[in-house]
Amino acid sequence: MALEIYKKKRHFAKTPEPKGEIKVKGLNRFVVQKHQASHLHYDFRLELPENIIQSPARLPKPERRRQVVLKSWAVPKGVPPVAGKKSLAVAVEDHPVSYINFSGVIPQGNYGAGKVEIWDKGKFKLLAQAARSLKFELQGKKLKGKYVLFQLKGKNWLIFKMK
Ligand code: MN
Repeated sequence: MALEIYKKKRHFAKTPEPKGEIKVKGLNRFVVQKHQASHLHYDFRLELPENIIQSPARLPKPERRRQVVLKSWAVPKGVPPVAGKKSLAVAVEDHPVSYINFSGVIPQGNYGAGKVEIWDKGKFKLLAQAARSLKFELQGKKLKGKYVLFQLKGKNWLIFKMK
């Protein structure tokens, strides 16, 4: 089930993070959350169908094809605001759509303990999608323009702005 891993990692009695629910309609939003966990990183999230990245052979049952989640990547150096730089983006578990508004402090002892701030937020337009890449246009306050997420291997992706 979608969000299974997300839920497994968290104790909702002990963290202020949203428990979340499955949405079937996306609003094409993105967020970048600055996360001061044991290592500072930026979490980049796109509101997309949960199965967008899977190969067609592995698509789940039809009723699950339109479930929308926040596809998420941890970006240690942040999403480059200009072209010419590529950042490593490590795929992490899907987050519930309601996480898009989350900021606050995840208490010590919990998964991802530390401060979460919204660094940028806005809409995006999906431009192209292939087995190992997503192309989209970000319409945020800090991040604007056409970007690519490209899968290197396994959980490792690159994110960069197009020239
Ligand atoms: Mn994080």
